[in-house]
Amino acid sequence: MTRDAMRVLRDPRAVRRQVRSWRAAGESVALVPTMGFLHAGHLSLLARAKRRGRRVVLSIYVNPTQFAPHEDLATYPRDLRRDLGMAREAEVDLCFCPETLYGEGFQTQVRVTGLETVLEGASRPDHFAGVTLVVLKLLHIVEPDALILGQKDVQQAVILERMVRDLDLAVRVERGPIVREADGLAMSSRNIYLTPVQRAAAPVLHRALQEARSAARIGRASGPLLRSIERAVAAESEADLDYVAAVDATSLQPVSKLSGRVILAIAARFGRTRLIDNEEFSLREVSS
Ligand code: AMP
Repeated sequence: MTRDAMRVLRDPRAVRRQVRSWRAAGESVALVPTMGFLHAGHLSLLARAKRRGRRVVLSIYVNPTQFAPHEDLATYPRDLRRDLGMAREAEVDLCFCPETLYGEGFQTQVRVTGLETVLEGASRPDHFAGVTLVVLKLLHIVEPDALILGQKDVQQAVILERMVRDLDLAVRVERGPIVREADGLAMSSRNIYLTPVQRAAAPVLHRALQEARSAARIGRASGPLLRSIERAVAAESEADLDYVAAVDATSLQPVSKLSGRVILAIAARFGRTRLIDNEEFSLREVSS
């Protein structure tokens, strides 16, 4: 059977028409939202989206509302030609790459309070309001059955899952695991900014989190674990720790004693590049 060519659409109405025609024919549709500059992490989400023969919609949009004025919106890596080639290889059915999603006079905000002010939100105050806004718009435009998100941005996933439940959105959220380079560095479009020396140092984040995870036991205080991570990162001269935290996997509130599902989350700067990583685990898994 020959496959249809991938559609590349910029107009939200054309996207909605296409997806509605698939759904009217009884097909299921999965959306993978991205900011482009695709890597193997994105491709793993596209492969998950394709499960059970679903139609795959990939959105590529460097969303201005999730960048603060001093952040890297202007320099965020972009290569649409390359992305479209990779998307075709990955058998994406539709690539939605809008020019802009915000018309003249746009004023609406979407906020998931509480969850958006901790961890990344403490360092990037309006970031998640931009994320929830753009993803809610994408969900309205695409109307997918499934929304596929990466564990790499775990706080984003927790917030969007909360938004979907709170607003009774008719979409199922699925999370794909973090895809890593051979030395453990989590894949990220921003890794391209790293100098060779910084790149060689960056796996310290994953290493430190993994060591802490293997020392985690039910009922133990989180403080010593966090301090061991801080020491490991401090020993790496290229790394400048922003935060490390042990939080409950649903509320994202700090846990002083480890139990249930926990996330160890970290952010650090390597020169001007800020990287994040996390380990999520249930203590039953590691305490046996
Ligand atoms: P981005 O293009 O960075 O906005 O990411 C788009 C989606 O890909 C988000 O759901 C991310 O969590 C996910 N993602 C980014 N990096 C990875 C990775 N290394 N492994 C798995 N998913 C990822």
